[in-house]
Order: sequence, then C-alpha cells, then structure tokens
Amino acid sequence: MTALTGLVGWRGMVGSVLMDRMQAEGDFDHIEPMFFSTSNAGGTAPVMAKNEKKLFDAYDIDALKRCEIIVTAQGGDYTSDVFPRLRAAGWNGHWIDAASTLRMKDDAVIVLDPVNMPVIKDALAKGGRNWIGGNCTVSCMLMGVGALYKAGLVEWMNTMTYQAASGGGAAHMRELLTQYGTLNASVRHLLDDPKSAILEIDRQLAATQRGLSDAETANFGVPLGGSLIPWIDKDLGDGMSKEEWKGEAETNKILGQGAGFGTDATPVDGFCVRVGAMRCHSQALLFKLKKDVPLADIEALIAADNAWVKLVPNTKEATLRDLTPVAVTGTMTIPVGRLRKMSMGPQYLGAFTIGDQLLWGAAEPLRRMLRIVVDA
Ligand code: NAP
Repeated sequence: MTALTGLVGWRGMVGSVLMDRMQAEGDFDHIEPMFFSTSNAGGTAPVMAKNEKKLFDAYDIDALKRCEIIVTAQGGDYTSDVFPRLRAAGWNGHWIDAASTLRMKDDAVIVLDPVNMPVIKDALAKGGRNWIGGNCTVSCMLMGVGALYKAGLVEWMNTMTYQAASGGGAAHMRELLTQYGTLNASVRHLLDDPKSAILEIDRQLAATQRGLSDAETANFGVPLGGSLIPWIDKDLGDGMSKEEWKGEAETNKILGQGAGFGTDATPVDGFCVRVGAMRCHSQALLFKLKKDVPLADIEALIAADNAWVKLVPNTKEATLRDLTPVAVTGTMTIPVGRLRKMSMGPQYLGAFTIGDQLLWGAAEPLRRMLRIVVDA
C-alpha cells in the first residue's frame, strides 16, 4: 500500500524544485499523491497525479484529513492557519513543511538527515509527527561544514551571508531581473559608445536606481539590482534580524544541542545580507576552534562528511571555477573552499561555502524526510 500523501504549495519556487527532485528520484512510485491548491481548487492536478486527478482545496480540513502524510511548501501563513485546525480536528498524520512557523516548537524536528539522522530516528521512535525543513542558509552551511560540529571542534562560529533573490520566492526573482533590465536600458546608449565617459554611466545608473518606482521595488522595498540589502526577515527589535537569530537557534536545534536538549549551545552569529545573485546562498565563515587542528586534518574531516560536500582547493583558479553561485546553481554539490587559518591565531579558521538554497536549503530535506516516513 502506498501512503496517501497531500502535496501543498507544489507550484511555488520551493514546490517546483521539490516536484522536479521527487520525479528525478522516483518518489511518486512510493506514494499516492493528492494535490492541493489555495487558488485553483477543482482545477487539473499535474501529470504526477495517479487516481486523484483534480486539485483539492488546500483549506478543506476534511480533504486534508484523508492524507497519511502532508508535504507543504505553501508558506508560513498557510501553516499558521491550517496546521492547528487540522491537529484540532484529530489528524495524526505526518506533517512535512518548508515554512519556519513550527521549527522551534518542542514537538517539531528540523530535518536535515545527512546531518541529524539520529535526532530524526529518536523523534520517530517517540511518535514524532512534525518534520520541518530548516532555514536555507543554516541547512546549506551544515551540509558543508557539519563535520566540524560533529567532531566537537567548534567553540563559536561567525557567519556573513550573501543570499540570493530567490530566497524570497518567485516574485522576488522576477523583480531583480526586471530591475537589471531597467538599469541596463537606462545606460544602453552610453554602453554602446566606447568613447562615452564612465562617470556619466555611473551617474545615470545611480539616478535610475534611486528613481525606481514603488512597483519596481514592491518585493524588496529598495533596489537590489547593482546594490545589496544588509537586512533579511523581521526586525527583532534588539539589533538582530530574524534571519540572523535563526543561525544560532536552528544550528543548535538541528544538531540536537542547546537548552531544549539540556546541553550547551554553540554561539553562532553574524550578518545576513541579500545580494543580487539569482540563486544560491553563499557564506563566509569564521570559526574559533576548541583546539589547534592541522589544516590538512580539517580538510579531510570536511571532505569525508557526506556525499555532496566538495572541497575546493584554496587557489584563485579553483575558487573562480567552483566557488560561485553560478557554478553551484541547480546542483546538489556543496562546495567548501577558501579554507585557511586566519592571522588571529591557529585556532581561527576561515571558510567560504555555497549551497543551492532551493535544493539542500529547502526541497531536498523535505523529500528525503518523506522517504524516511514512507519507509519507516
Ligand atoms: P512562492 O514561490 O511565493 O510560492 C508559494 C505559493 O504562492 C505557491 O505555492 C502558490 O500557491 C502561490 N503563488 C501565487 N502566485 C504564484 C506564481 N506566479 N507562481 C508560483 N506560485 C504562485 O514561495 P517559496 O519561495 O516557494 O516559499 C514557500 C515556503 O518555503 C515559505 O515558507 C518559505 O519561507 C520557505 N522556504 C523558501 C526558500 C527559498 O529559497 N525560496 C528556502 C527555504 C524555505 P497556489 O498554487 O496554492 O496558488
């Protein structure tokens, strides 16, 4: 018997990547899918549908209750609305979710099985039912350098991120590309003339950026094309952005350490910055290690951690070839490079890592958790 599995949010940015990956890995052979929609109930379900060919209303609690498993990439507002009502109606199935809403709840596990399979197995054995994908930046970081945490080497970690526009969803990607088009068009005539003055191009570009309309900056609030935004997610009111807060909270919860587990948490802090990349979150990391470990040993530890991490030699040639968002986009590879001891001392380690945040940062942990539940 294949498990009746509700799929919600399947046509969004994360959902589309999730559907691609599920098809590539043959996941639909193991489930009986039931597709839901918040905007097109009664419409035709995608081609992966087997017996249930119509789209169900994603707010229909009775229809959702039929599912043994629900996988949602619909977003936090949907989870906040539907999840409590569904549980209150007595539904006891597995809820697998990309949104952050439930991540820090005591009865929820943040799933990233190559890093925290023991935490997942333990929760499954205890009857766990809520499986939430982690923050994209945190998940990609742990896929890259989780080995250092597993080896108990990290005293603290500072992370400075460079996060892509697609982290905000489909509409944000469109906005960035539209801005690039507008910027290019505004100086096109000057670019076409090799004798034009670069300062004139510069002046016109800045004027165009500052003159972008509210409609042209509706998603990011300010221009992102040719600029950056050093604030992601909500203002927590204490100088920290919510994205920055997630770094420490989620890293520790994924690893099964910190207050909720009766152990010390590892301090993780830094600044999260939105940049004009289309896809992939990059981050510069600084570790204080608990002891001086030779660089070669650190490299060996990281390289052996999982099948997707890839050590990039700390040379200009290898970095330019393998350690850019363009090189990593659409791949499951998590490159870790720029590894070197910093001038502050032998316990200070620098690293740079990149991950496709729609794959390891969103869709992949969800589809792998679906398979873990189906095979349990
Ligand atoms: P999204 O692209 O905005 O999609 C969410 C929903 O918007 C879709 O399921 C769809 O619902 C609706 N929608 C409306 N207009 C659409 C259009 N033109 N194209 C596609 N869908 C449209 O959001 P997302 O980035 O996938 O994020 C979903 C959840 O995953 C959020 O909780 C987010 O925080 C989390 N997440 C995102 C990322 C990331 O990198 N983007 C990473 C990790 C986690 P209907 O089909 O029902 O109308």
